[in-house]
Amino acid sequence: MKEDCIFCQITNNKTETDFLYEDEKVVAFNDINPQAETHVLVVPKKHIPTVKDLQEEDRGLVSKMIWTAKKIAADKKLDGYRLQINVGRSGGQEIDHIHLHLLANK
Ligand code: 5GP
Ligand code: ZN
Repeated sequence: MKEDCIFCQITNNKTETDFLYEDEKVVAFNDINPQAETHVLVVPKKHIPTVKDLQEEDRGLVSKMIWTAKKIAADKKLDGYRLQINVGRSGGQEIDHIHLHLLANK
């Protein structure tokens, strides 16, 4: 855990954030500033700043993030949706802890 990282604080239960999903590797919760009717963030517990920092050993974690988003979308009976990962400031990333956005208007 990186102490000054907001997503490390959230994934380690240091905030009041309600989880839609949690297991030993990832959590999912609603975005505080939703950009769509459904805006969920899927966040690994491991602190990895960006996609650029992913290592070979993280391949399973990336797969798990997408699988988690798929399960949440199915639970919410979403039809179409977008899965988005912003990479770097110029790629729109504000929080330096890797996360997957699940966005839908239904
Ligand atoms: P990024 O721009 O890094 O891809 O996305 C970061 C997202 O995290 C933004 O959509 C922002 O609204 C969300 N966010 C930032 N701080 C918090 C927080 O403390 N709680 C929650 N639930 N979402 C946050
Ligand atoms: Zn972190």
